[in-house]
Amino acid sequence: MKVLVIGGCGYIGSHLVSRLLTNGHNVLIIDDLSSGYADSALGGEIQVGDFGDRKLLDLVFTKNNLDGVVHFASLIQVSESVVDPAKYYYTNVSKTLTLLQAMKDHNVGPLIFSSTAAVFGEPVDIPITEVHPTSPLNPYGASKLMVEQMLRDFDLAYGFRSVSLRYFNAAGADPEARIGERHEPETHLIPIALQAAMGKRPALKVFGRDYDTCDGTCVRDYIHVDDLACAHLLALEYLNKGGQTTAFNLGNGEGFSVQQVLETIEKVTGLQVPTIDAPRRDGDPARLVADASAARKYLGWRPNYSELETIIQHAWAWEQKRSGPT
Ligand code: UDP
Repeated sequence: MKVLVIGGCGYIGSHLVSRLLTNGHNVLIIDDLSSGYADSALGGEIQVGDFGDRKLLDLVFTKNNLDGVVHFASLIQVSESVVDPAKYYYTNVSKTLTLLQAMKDHNVGPLIFSSTAAVFGEPVDIPITEVHPTSPLNPYGASKLMVEQMLRDFDLAYGFRSVSLRYFNAAGADPEARIGERHEPETHLIPIALQAAMGKRPALKVFGRDYDTCDGTCVRDYIHVDDLACAHLLALEYLNKGGQTTAFNLGNGEGFSVQQVLETIEKVTGLQVPTIDAPRRDGDPARLVADASAARKYLGWRPNYSELETIIQHAWAWEQKRSGPT
């Protein structure tokens, strides 16, 4: 296949690029490098540019015979989306509409779209299946849900086929530590805790110890980034074999509390994670755990790295590598 990966220099996108190359596919990347890094793409051709630029899209779609598009490029900081929703709706919704129009006009498809567990909001049932009500708590989640809605309507009206993949907590790194998580600023639990353990940060703030969970801290479903990458490839194959437009939840189906993650990090690294207790973070549900049985059934998806310890070992190897010799 020849696959266009939009946002292929970012965290999850770069792991898909690696997986596509390993499986012998051709890769073309569009990335504006606003949050990605050119050297995160382990191969393929990079077109540096804005995926919302219709002229660029016309050029790319005219010049290349594509078997599919995977769209990762988006803004992902929940708290920023609350204070600057215009920025989120513009980038995540308006630019994505430009992309969908261009794909439709050039008859390019199918599309795999990066969605999120944030489309569900506060869960009413755990584990969360695809039919769980969607009620996002912030503009970030709302922007992703709007695109899912556009995709359903594009299918009904134009026969434009897509799969939305709703990630729970993406974590870990390439098992060979060539690439990994590099957000700037970093807001995610595992890299921040590892950096605190290494002394690169003063302490990890634990956002709330008064939740109704096993130990009072929030419970999340951590899924290895390489397993997420595999799901994209399977979703492309599913659509290319005639699969219907739909959305799949992607997680391991097992929840770990912030405290349990910290204990696993201490076990893996042999270091102590300095912490300070902080108030709850706005919009954090107590528990988010996926029911990913539909992805298993319809995509044949089987996570390879479902142990939290393995996920953290890979994140740790990457974090040490990117910090250089100590
Ligand atoms: N968390 C925390 N301190 C941090 C970052 C995250 O206590 O510095 C908690 C956060 O409140 C949530 C969990 O860790 O319960 C996972 O957060 P993350 O930002 O990694 O992912 P999210 O669940 O928001 O997608």
